[in-house]
Amino acid sequence: MKNIYTLIGAVLLCVAQLSAQTRTCHTMGNLDRLLELHPQMQENMDAIEDFTRDFENTPQLRGENLVTIPVVVNVVYKTSAQNISDAQILSQIQVLNDDFRRQNSDADNTWSQAFDTNIEFCLASVDPDGNPTDGIRRRQTNKPSFSANDAVKTANQGLAPWDPSSYMNIWVCNLGSGLLGYAQFPGGPADTDGIVIDYAYFGTIGTATAPFDLGRTATHEVGHYLNLRHIWGDGPCSADDFVSDTPSSDNPNYGCAVGHVSCGSTDMVQNYMDYSDDVCMNLFTSGQSLRMDALFAPGGVRAGLATSGGCGNVSEPTCDDGIQNGDETGIDCGGSNCPACPPSCDDGIQNGDETGVDCGGSCAPCVTVTCDDGIQNGDETGVDCGGSDCPACPATCDDGIQNGEETGVDCGGPDCAPCSTGGSCDTPTGTVATNIKRKRAKLNWNAVDGAIDYTVQFRVAGASAWASEANTAETTINATSLSNNTTYEWQVRANCSGSSSDYSPICSFTAGDSNSSSCAGERLMESTVNAFPNPTTGDLNIQFQMERGIGYRVILLDGMGRVVNEWFTGEQVSLQVDISDVAPGLYFIQVTNGTDQEVIRIVKD
Ligand SMILES: [Zn+2]
Repeated sequence: MKNIYTLIGAVLLCVAQLSAQTRTCHTMGNLDRLLELHPQMQENMDAIEDFTRDFENTPQLRGENLVTIPVVVNVVYKTSAQNISDAQILSQIQVLNDDFRRQNSDADNTWSQAFDTNIEFCLASVDPDGNPTDGIRRRQTNKPSFSANDAVKTANQGLAPWDPSSYMNIWVCNLGSGLLGYAQFPGGPADTDGIVIDYAYFGTIGTATAPFDLGRTATHEVGHYLNLRHIWGDGPCSADDFVSDTPSSDNPNYGCAVGHVSCGSTDMVQNYMDYSDDVCMNLFTSGQSLRMDALFAPGGVRAGLATSGGCGNVSEPTCDDGIQNGDETGIDCGGSNCPACPPSCDDGIQNGDETGVDCGGSCAPCVTVTCDDGIQNGDETGVDCGGSDCPACPATCDDGIQNGEETGVDCGGPDCAPCSTGGSCDTPTGTVATNIKRKRAKLNWNAVDGAIDYTVQFRVAGASAWASEANTAETTINATSLSNNTTYEWQVRANCSGSSSDYSPICSFTAGDSNSSSCAGERLMESTVNAFPNPTTGDLNIQFQMERGIGYRVILLDGMGRVVNEWFTGEQVSLQVDISDVAPGLYFIQVTNGTDQEVIRIVKD
């Protein structure tokens, strides 16, 4: 009997395996079709590939420059089952965010090149006409199923896309033919740009069907939409996916073939761009992330998504009384309120000791009307009032408010930084480059109170413009793709709520030279103090040659000049200490004999 049950079990298992679906993505087939229809797409793709290569080979900061892509989900349905719920759509957006930010609960350490891509997704909140939206559009159709011919993207049979330079369009429909989905690579026609997912493989609830019920079909297709190829390069071992840190493979892997070897190496079946089941996938690599980053760089083909207002809020001005009052930091700008001014006069200018136009104070008539340019400039004491002249302002901006360091509306000052709504923000100190290798280095600075994040700028020394800029919430950032023996410059500023600090003095370092970190204005006085190794991971030998006063005191200061530790050595002119418990960063060793003191800089790795 037991054997019969085993036999029945085996037959059932076999049937189950036969009916289990394997992943079928039609993106490459779709590419072939589009290239037939639009031969110039190949030129576009070649140009994008050249741009991507240049971007990948340009020294740059790999920070947390978060890109948030506004998404519109176009549901085209015949049956009510195909008309998937808002909750199912939200479950898919959540998966995209988890997977692209590597916050997926199944992330593991199998592959060290696994990477947080810093790409996020939001359902659009503003439609192309500037009206509020929930980012979901629905249309009922008579068509029982669509195929991969883009009919679902037409106003005729489905829904035409929202402007693909500002929104990522996702269509959800019945694709038929067991097709899970397909995407359009960057460089294709705008009116079909986006991805299509079968309604049975979208999100994690409702109609989502195993083994593709964890939302990874969309993760995979968005990967294509962001210019990623299948991890096996859609060909033999020699075919490339244009990513350097993914192993070569000659075929897709299905199911969950962990440990499968091809082309002489273990396949990365956990990569979202393989054909594994949803439960088996869990990573993009650093190289895939860099390839996607190129799309959002200035001039990148999807840069518009990074600056799209599709998920924005229309920022409300403080008031609209046309004057700067209350605690506003500009006219109808910043601050929390603009209590109505006690009216003073109605001469239409701010004069006397008024605090706004015809507002507050008194308005002794102007002694002399100076000009009529409508702003207070030159040595005027009010708008077009008093003083001796009103030389035309150097125009700064044209945002219609006085902000930044402007001396009038769109006038004077070096810039018109957006209105400050918060307190001040100190310039970061303690800037130092550490872990300086031939191809990379780590840039560090001290935390600033109230900083939300930091903006770092970076370039080859001597270049006139900053080549790379990145934001990070950390107090460190990696510079990568460096050239050995090349000197680089960088600076950092703190961004607080509503205001930013000045940039730190420009610092430099030379790739490959671990002792080359230095910063402008930071040169220290000649010192007899010597400390080694420097940088140190803990052990530190300190020697000095000062005249003995009342005995030597050695003080460890952090980058902001705060005492971290101190030691009294009496007559000894050397000291061995262990600072392994001190946080990595820039420090100073100060030696004093009671009257004189000398300081040197050290770096704790
Ligand atoms: Zn695919």
